[in-house]
Amino acid sequence: MKDLSFTGKISLRTLAVLALVLVSGLLFFPMRHKPRPIEPTPGMETSRNLWVRVLLFDNMREFVLSTPFGFTVWDGDGQIPVQFSESCGAVLAGVLEGGIVIGEHIFGGHVRIEPDDPFVFSVNNEKYRGHLQLIVDSDGKSFDVINSVPLESYLAGVIGEEMPSYWESEALKAQTVVARTYCLFMKARFGSRRKWDVKRTQANQVYGGMSSESPMVWDAVRQTSGCVLVCRQGDGEKIFPTYYSSTCGGHTEDSSHVFGDSYEALRGVPCPYCEDVTRRSFFQWSTVSFAAADVSRRIIRRYPRFKSLERIVAIEPQEVSEYEGFKRNCSLRLVGVNGRSKTLRAEDLRLTVDPTGRKIKSNSYEITLRGKQFVFSGGRGFGHAVGMCQYGAEGMARKGKDFKTILSHYFPGSSIRRVQ
Ligand SMILES: [Zn+2]
Repeated sequence: MKDLSFTGKISLRTLAVLALVLVSGLLFFPMRHKPRPIEPTPGMETSRNLWVRVLLFDNMREFVLSTPFGFTVWDGDGQIPVQFSESCGAVLAGVLEGGIVIGEHIFGGHVRIEPDDPFVFSVNNEKYRGHLQLIVDSDGKSFDVINSVPLESYLAGVIGEEMPSYWESEALKAQTVVARTYCLFMKARFGSRRKWDVKRTQANQVYGGMSSESPMVWDAVRQTSGCVLVCRQGDGEKIFPTYYSSTCGGHTEDSSHVFGDSYEALRGVPCPYCEDVTRRSFFQWSTVSFAAADVSRRIIRRYPRFKSLERIVAIEPQEVSEYEGFKRNCSLRLVGVNGRSKTLRAEDLRLTVDPTGRKIKSNSYEITLRGKQFVFSGGRGFGHAVGMCQYGAEGMARKGKDFKTILSHYFPGSSIRRVQ
């Protein structure tokens, strides 16, 4: 048996977390002392095609694992599974010499942890559903923490993060269909090449696990169970990347102008619905400025092909979409101090200059050089404006439109199909 020196390496921070979890774990999983039902985890019996692998943490070294009724650990090397009973309580999971250590057991570099019914667990007190996979990194010192979760349970942890759960039920249902489709599209596009399908951040869709669930969100998930959007592609119909963003400002945008991909259902459409619902500061945002030298540096660092411009001294609209009452930049011409120029997609410029996306809120603005500052003024809308306008969806729902009408408005020519 290997020396379990791992237990001697627990940091003070870990001990503090462990103590906290042991105490608060009683609050989060109170059924040991005072039975209270946990919402069952639907979809545990569904095909793995309808499960999602969510990367919760990468480069993790240790965490506290807790389940209400025990769990089983399956070693990727095919050894006999190890059962941890309810009485084990919270245990520490870590890595030692390329293997995973859970409690007092040592496993190989890839384990699957399956909690007992109702299939919930917590990682450092954050609660999730489904299974957990731990995969040791190539350096043997840390591991990826991946939540394998049935699609419908995944959505229950996403919708309340991406849209206020108190919004109209038809808007929540539209959001659910869009989030389900987007997730399956990303899984199909990248999943087979990676250990996971989606991240739990805005890079894909924000996933908060069980703490993001609510009865309203569960209703939206159940009432649209398995519904996805498809559109015509070639000879058939397939799912597509159902983008969405906060506030389009009056007209959504063609995806080809923003992300470079082209689908029939991702054409821009008029949206008279978000103006009355969204915040004023989202519909029309205030002027922001950035030091011209910083803007130049950031763009050249991110896109080395702009090095030949030496220093960017002017930014001018190149391709522009024009709508009633406003324009949106699709691409910009960047001019160097040496007179050379190159083109950059407006969405790429926006998120390079302002990675938060909270200052330059959209691609609808005028850009001018004032002194040593690039000034973005007359801004309109919040987000990339492709696909579903979320405030617009809420506006439509408040006018009595159902989720199918909302989806067919923002994704023209699309149809709803059921997977499962
Ligand atoms: Zn809108």
